Amino acid sequence: MEKRAPEGGRRPPAQAFDVPLDAHLHTELSPDSAVPLELYAAQAAERGVREIAITDHLDFSPDAPAYAYADYGRREREVRAAAERWVGKVTIRFGVELTYESRHEDAIRQHLRTHSYDYALGTVHDMSDGPYGRSRVESFVAGKTLAEAVAPYFAEVAAAIRSGLFDTIGHLDMIKRYLIKWWPAADYAAIPEMYEPLLVALVESDTALEVNASGLRHPTGETYPAPWVVARFRELGGQRVTVGSDSHLPHCFAFGLEEACEIVAAAGFDRLTLQRAVERGDLVLPERFHRA
Ligand SMILES: [Zn+2]
Ligand SMILES: [Zn+2]
Repeated sequence: MEKRAPEGGRRPPAQAFDVPLDAHLHTELSPDSAVPLELYAAQAAERGVREIAITDHLDFSPDAPAYAYADYGRREREVRAAAERWVGKVTIRFGVELTYESRHEDAIRQHLRTHSYDYALGTVHDMSDGPYGRSRVESFVAGKTLAEAVAPYFAEVAAAIRSGLFDTIGHLDMIKRYLIKWWPAADYAAIPEMYEPLLVALVESDTALEVNASGLRHPTGETYPAPWVVARFRELGGQRVTVGSDSHLPHCFAFGLEEACEIVAAAGFDRLTLQRAVERGDLVLPERFHRA
């Protein structure tokens, strides 16, 4: 029997070809990935992805997995050496994904002041010491509305944006993943008032919004954040967006980035961005994404 493609004949998400950038990649220098950087670089060359940013995890809670997992010197050496090897074929940026927690903001600021990166991606994770910790989340969500349940997460994201430390805020609402057992991702469209302050803060601080495609391969089933959030960001005056697969496995390189680029284009953006301080004319979306 012929398998019907979902959503009116569209293909399910896959690894993309010919997109300008994958700005969110984890290698064996992250505690939750075993991918050698070379595997990403080789796929980037094959798939026509001209630029990649390596964003291994860095945590600031001493009990978190990426606290002092791979030291800065090693990460910098390995990524810079790969960048040299691939020069002329793939541009490799030395980035970092910093887990933002307001209680560690001073330490994050100090780290970024004393260490040099091409790209600083700030994200909020499950706040394991907070309400979303495995032993607490069930009792925390009990009796709460969705807006109440996401409030602590979104408050941390707002603080991350206001810190002004990051080029980009990654997976703005990954809380969808942590709460999927109680609320499907579609429910979040009913709480736009929770997103509005975040989007305004991004615009005011000129911080870029990442469209993180990993949700397309999670039970979440949609990007972090959803298309309507990216469109609202644009309406509010958002100027800078980027896309990332958040790959931790070889076959997740550039995964879902065709969809992420479509979302960005549909919202009214014609290009991607990376470093906050650098105006780029070369991260323009290919012609197939152009809108009339
Ligand atoms: Zn993350
Ligand atoms: Zn990540």
